[in-house]
Amino acid sequence: MDHSRTEQMANRRMASVLSHLQNSVVQDEGRRSIPLVVPTSSPIPPQDSEVSDESQPPYSADEKPKLKWNGWGYEGTEFDLNDEGHIYLAGERYTMDSHFPNFRPWLESTIEGIDVDETSSMRDTIICPPQVRNEQFIKAISDGKCGEVSYTEEERVIHGHGQTLEEMFTLRNGQFERVPDCVVWPTKHEDVELLVKLADKYNVCVIPFGGGTTVSKAVKCPEDEKRMIVSVDMRKMDRIKWVDRSSLLACVEAGIVGIQLEERLSELGLTVGHEPDSHEFSTLGGWVATRASGMKKNVYGNIEDILVHCKSVTPMGTMEKNCYGPRISTGPDLHHVI
Ligand SMILES: Cc1cc2nc3c(=O)[nH]c(=O)nc-3n(C[C@H](O)[C@H](O)[C@H](O)COP(=O)(O)OP(=O)(O)OC[C@H]3O[C@@H](n4cnc5c(N)ncnc54)[C@H](O)[C@@H]3O)c2cc1C
Repeated sequence: MDHSRTEQMANRRMASVLSHLQNSVVQDEGRRSIPLVVPTSSPIPPQDSEVSDESQPPYSADEKPKLKWNGWGYEGTEFDLNDEGHIYLAGERYTMDSHFPNFRPWLESTIEGIDVDETSSMRDTIICPPQVRNEQFIKAISDGKCGEVSYTEEERVIHGHGQTLEEMFTLRNGQFERVPDCVVWPTKHEDVELLVKLADKYNVCVIPFGGGTTVSKAVKCPEDEKRMIVSVDMRKMDRIKWVDRSSLLACVEAGIVGIQLEERLSELGLTVGHEPDSHEFSTLGGWVATRASGMKKNVYGNIEDILVHCKSVTPMGTMEKNCYGPRISTGPDLHHVI
């Protein structure tokens, strides 16, 4: 190919790319423009969706079993020793045979000097650092328009850590230097938009919270953060808005917990195809944000292979792509950045 023809082609392609960019630029009240991102409506639900509950209240139901404040899992679920001295799993949540008669002998023969009867000391009360208050922001969210709000020490500490051993140890024996100053539970996209707008306006720091199962300290607060910190617990945004059986697509809110999503799709004979070991507690939004991997990935791929489209709230407005196709031929892919 001669040089001028190559140049012509390059110019044509550049003109085409530029025309797309020009169409896609959003001006947000005079602030900097965001190329390649257009505020579109979400993908259109199919006429024949078997699920259509956009207007319904969230499923997350307060009647869900309560999570422990001081460790992994639900209250009442714990390993203990039975009358015969064997290790068993206490609590009523799991229906499996919860007695493990071979476990203790295995531990004792494998780990030299282990004493299964010894218990480590653990604080049974919550210790919480002082609260930073931004009164203007607190007033602005007090009408509940962004969702329910809690300022209790228990909720603040629960939302101030993930599940690394170090964080567990601090929770039980030490003290976190910094935890969120309040927790908000939005129930719909517009609640999050308003919350982020107000946080931006009053200079408040926002940390999204899914299941809190992170093992990379991603929900831990920076110790030197002087601004008020708000943990945005997404678990009341757990609706499946629609399912398109012919394209095998589903539109689901970010706060749905893995096991709940799988159960609900399995009623329709479908699967998410994503099953991290934490899927009883971790959420769809958390999977996307951490680019999670699950044990079914050899069949269905990792979460970034399964995700087709997502709508994200930023201080500059809502971002979403206007293409719902699963494959990307130009990069970088915005979803990977998110
Ligand atoms: C026992 C155990 C087993 C695990 N197994 C696996 C595994 O098999 N595979 C794997 O990949 N990981 C695994 N993990 C790690 C963890 O479960 C994953 O990183 C999971 O994706 C986190 O999801 P989450 O909902 O708990 O998110 P969180 O821990 O609450 O948050 C993680 C990050 O995502 C952000 N975030 C959460 N929700 C949103 C949202 N809606 N919008 C924007 N940002 C958000 C948070 O701000 C934070 O930065 C495991 C962890 C534990 C403790």
